[in-house]
Amino acid sequence: MDPEMKQDFDQEQRAEFARQFRRHHRFQIFILVGGILLYMIHGVVVLSAGIWDESWGYGLIPLFGGALMFWSSALKYNRCPACDHFFRRGPPTRTRKFCSACGSQLID
Ligand SMILES: [Zn+2]
Repeated sequence: MDPEMKQDFDQEQRAEFARQFRRHHRFQIFILVGGILLYMIHGVVVLSAGIWDESWGYGLIPLFGGALMFWSSALKYNRCPACDHFFRRGPPTRTRKFCSACGSQLID
């Protein structure tokens, strides 16, 4: 806890934070699920075509691409707007409204 960084956000700001966190969280899940899905689809297609030995590596592109985009988005946006604390366990939720580092209430 760093009470010096604590900020009192009004209701409008908290609503905006909630919108932003939701938006980025949706994007992160979408990109992660999309990458895994593409990897699996590629695997099935390549296996059924019998070209696994020469083509399995291409399946890693969406997998690692998705993971990379997931992490860059999480590192950039899953942060406290008051103290820049990185939320390791994901953005604030209804049961976790306060920043664990500075104690600011971020969403309603
Ligand atoms: Zn904070």
